[in-house]
Amino acid sequence: MDKWCLELIVYIREIALSTSKQFELIDITYRVEKIVEESGVRNGIVLVFAPHATAAIIANEHESGLISDIIEEIKDLTKPGSSRWRHNIIDDNAHAHIGSALIGADRVFPVINGRLIRGTWQNIFLVEMDGPRSRRRVIVTVMGE
Ligand code: ZN
Repeated sequence: MDKWCLELIVYIREIALSTSKQFELIDITYRVEKIVEESGVRNGIVLVFAPHATAAIIANEHESGLISDIIEEIKDLTKPGSSRWRHNIIDDNAHAHIGSALIGADRVFPVINGRLIRGTWQNIFLVEMDGPRSRRRVIVTVMGE
């Protein structure tokens, strides 16, 4: 029963952000990596979660052309301002809710030997789809030993 004696660390921090456009990708890679470093976790996972119904979290390349491409494709898929969206009768941001639902509000990464594992072309972004917002949050939970 006591073969394993791991000390579990659960380290939770919040990243506070503001956004300046309706659609925007905000690179939070280095802030997340800093939190992983501070946590002292050697091996485990890190959950990056945006507690918002109109934003999302992705991992992808930080290249300005691609950032524009992703934003344009999200607009094509979610059709901002469409008269099809019933939610727009009360809030005018159905597209952002749909984008968040399709993309997801979280991503999980492995932590190995104290480092967040990601591909060379996988920076971590908050995807703003209903900006500008003065208060966006990302909750970073690092768990492991
Ligand atoms: Zn809404």
